[in-house]
Amino acid sequence: MPRIYIETFGCQMNEADSQYIADRAMTAGYQIATRAEEASVLVLNTCTVRDNAERRAYGRMNHFKVLKERDPQVRLVVMGCLAEQDRDRMQKFAPHVDAVFGTKELVELGDQLAAWQPTLPDEPSDEGASDEELYRAMGGTADAVVDAFSHLRAFVTVQRGCSYYCTFCIVPHVRGRFDHRPMREIVAEVQTHLANGAREVMLVGQTVNAWRDPANGEDFGDLCKAVAALPGLERLTFISPHPKDFSEKIVADLAMVPRLNPRVHLPLQSGSDAMLRRMNRKYTRAQFEEKLSLFRRYLPHWAVTTDIIVGFPGENDADFEATMELVEAGAFANAFTFIYSIRRGTPAASWEQVPGDVSAPRFKRLIDAQNAATRAYHDCKIGTTVRALIVGPSKKDPARLAAKALDNVTVIAPMPAGYVEAVYAREPWLDIEIETAHVWGAMGTIVRRAQRYDDAGVTVERPVIDLIAG
Ligand code: SF4
Repeated sequence: MPRIYIETFGCQMNEADSQYIADRAMTAGYQIATRAEEASVLVLNTCTVRDNAERRAYGRMNHFKVLKERDPQVRLVVMGCLAEQDRDRMQKFAPHVDAVFGTKELVELGDQLAAWQPTLPDEPSDEGASDEELYRAMGGTADAVVDAFSHLRAFVTVQRGCSYYCTFCIVPHVRGRFDHRPMREIVAEVQTHLANGAREVMLVGQTVNAWRDPANGEDFGDLCKAVAALPGLERLTFISPHPKDFSEKIVADLAMVPRLNPRVHLPLQSGSDAMLRRMNRKYTRAQFEEKLSLFRRYLPHWAVTTDIIVGFPGENDADFEATMELVEAGAFANAFTFIYSIRRGTPAASWEQVPGDVSAPRFKRLIDAQNAATRAYHDCKIGTTVRALIVGPSKKDPARLAAKALDNVTVIAPMPAGYVEAVYAREPWLDIEIETAHVWGAMGTIVRRAQRYDDAGVTVERPVIDLIAG
């Protein structure tokens, strides 16, 4: 049976697209490979939201060239935002790429995989470079790889594109304007994922809470209530909302859905009104704070995370201090922080840029302040037991397991004695006693595992290392 390896960069929208391609590939008779060296089709799902993401994608294309040189029958496919944006340039910079599919050509990619299947070898040839040489030559890691645990988290796209045109963002240019899926289609897709073993469903859209049913105008709150009512659904979450689209009605609706994970990502970008205007964010600082208060009123136990850009064109010291005010007040449990980087084709790319020696020290201050707030948030978990959904063996240390708590905090724990991948894929909820906290997450010991979120769970054998120490 031919194998397919799917590597994903960027946002959950891309993860949702990768999941769709994995499903189509399995239906067409492929097996999913967790190592590129084992696959006869390599799919790179790319992102172009930042310059770094673009460079990483081209880097991976070059790394995969080694596999094609080893076995010319191996096919390399590029999909995602970079494929949409750079279709022509790609032929010049990566001529070994076999096929390019843009963000609106997922169905065609699925069809192409089915068409290739009968002519592909079961496994690529292992002549030529050794595994070790291949591993080194291929370098880098993706943000996500489809593996034995991927089906536990279902990403369901509720809306494609974005019509807001923030002046730093390439998304509307490569993915087009809003296109909302009807609720009945979304519900049907969620049901399919539940039937396939999904424990957590993530509703995905570039501005997910702007979703409206094209047929009757029902809003995002109505959608969450309808999905949460589906039999078999254990946990529900969503990404990525826009602050402007949280009405009081929607937040009140979310508060009526206990199956929602207790977290919301509210991208601030800047705390300065002048910057928010230049970014075309469509809210003021005061309006953003009103949205924060809405969540504190209706959902006080939810973690609020954010995105912040430093050094956006025109940012002065006072603008930056306005951002710092919110961060230093501990408004956010965590934040994705970036120094502004130019995206070709966006308005801000042609504006006068903030010099690096001005933005770099601002960025450092921001990181230090947010790290302190994040660490304080994680410290509160010490001594508690959290229920977390398994992600798989830790990338840094395969002797440990990684899991995500409901508030999306990463929790790492030593692999329990007698760990069997298939058992943990079936019983994926882990109760972890938290012992230490860090900026990146927390560490602890797995004490129980459960099949379903609401189950009491069964006791797990302590890790061998603990038994020796004890
Ligand atoms: S809201 Fe702004 S940042 Fe988000 S996808 Fe749309 S244009 Fe990009």
